[in-house]
Amino acid sequence: MTIFRAYDIRGIYPEQLNGELSYKIGIAFARFIGKGKIAVGMDARLSGPDLKKNIIKGLRDSGINVIDIGMVPTPALYFTVASMGLDGGAMITGSHNPKKYNGVKLCVKNAVCLSYETGINEVEKIVKESPQSPQMDGNVEVVDIEDDYVDFVTKNVKLEKPIKIVIDAGNGSGGNISSKIFKKLGCEVIEINNNPDGNFPKHHPDPSERKNLAELQAKVKEVNANVGIAYDGDADRVGFIDENGEVIPNNNAFALIIENVLRDSKGSKIIHEVLSSKMVEDVIKASGGVPVISRVGHSYIQEKMSEGAVLGGETSGHYYFAESYNYDDGIFGSVKLIELISKSEKKLSELSNELPKYMTSDDTRIHCPDEKKFDVVKSLAEKFKNMEEVITIDGVKVVLDNSWFIVRASNTQPALVLRWEAKDRTEFERIGNFIKNEVENEIKSIS
Ligand SMILES: [Zn+2]
Repeated sequence: MTIFRAYDIRGIYPEQLNGELSYKIGIAFARFIGKGKIAVGMDARLSGPDLKKNIIKGLRDSGINVIDIGMVPTPALYFTVASMGLDGGAMITGSHNPKKYNGVKLCVKNAVCLSYETGINEVEKIVKESPQSPQMDGNVEVVDIEDDYVDFVTKNVKLEKPIKIVIDAGNGSGGNISSKIFKKLGCEVIEINNNPDGNFPKHHPDPSERKNLAELQAKVKEVNANVGIAYDGDADRVGFIDENGEVIPNNNAFALIIENVLRDSKGSKIIHEVLSSKMVEDVIKASGGVPVISRVGHSYIQEKMSEGAVLGGETSGHYYFAESYNYDDGIFGSVKLIELISKSEKKLSELSNELPKYMTSDDTRIHCPDEKKFDVVKSLAEKFKNMEEVITIDGVKVVLDNSWFIVRASNTQPALVLRWEAKDRTEFERIGNFIKNEVENEIKSIS
């Protein structure tokens, strides 16, 4: 499998991604950018310093001036690029993956991230040509961005009352900086797994896996905190625990952040993805916002954000804010949720339980050969075209009165991925059986 992927470069260190390759990525990214100034940062991984040193060398040898911001969460790298008006940024990060992995996220001006189509493909092409060192000599400046980022994130936030928070940074790069932010806002902060440690001694830095939240859940209850916050390894993603130690589903967290943001910006657009719950759309409308649906994927959400939205969110726990140059920021997402809690008389569990309720399925995979999967989606779209509301921007999604379903071709496996949702159990079962049957029949009928 290639390390040049849909939204980043990622592989096992040093077998797939090492200093030598990182140097070439530096040269390739420099050629892609042309000339100018680029920020480089890294997360807490043990292989970070080697990869950072070499990508910086590749950039400098190509005549690029580099701002080295050291170990930071990914949103602080985006902030540096956007706020300083730089030409691009490179973040050495393995995000939420196990310790043997590392990777690179690349962005251009205004912290717009590169996807495979918008630039990673070019970088891959140049790397594979084994580029020689251009032997130029860009300069490097070491900058500590922490205080500027902390000031930026806190400047428009005012908590109505102090909130007691437990933060589990998963020993990633978001711990110290987020702790500083919440203390500055007047919160009482209890830290677990806060120190950066690329061995990830307690758990993988991935809040989407339930088992990684157990320690945080217990701590929230033990110290009677109002909320628990879990960041992934580079803090571009966030998950939440309520005061009872229960996990808040990401759809609910997004809906609460929407309520908070729309309070001061009625009539604004909010970007949600085809996979998000109908509840999210209900909340956007009820809070005076305009829902805009997007394909799944970082670059699609970021592109739609630039069309004048105030907020965007993914069911994976990424939140994008117009106030923060449209990049995704787990730390800013958590600040916005804590702000809501501070303004409310209610507890987080109550706020979450008051949201409209739907039954949502897990992703259900049905095996389908790669050469067939897109045809199946296409012929289902044709078959369903007269149903109530059909959305084909990403797979085929059909929205009915009291339910919806979606069928998408998997990006990584020979499979179709189904998800459905309904207002009540009878409809939930009916629609689930319906779409599973339709998909299986369609796979058989396409030869
Ligand atoms: Zn991440």
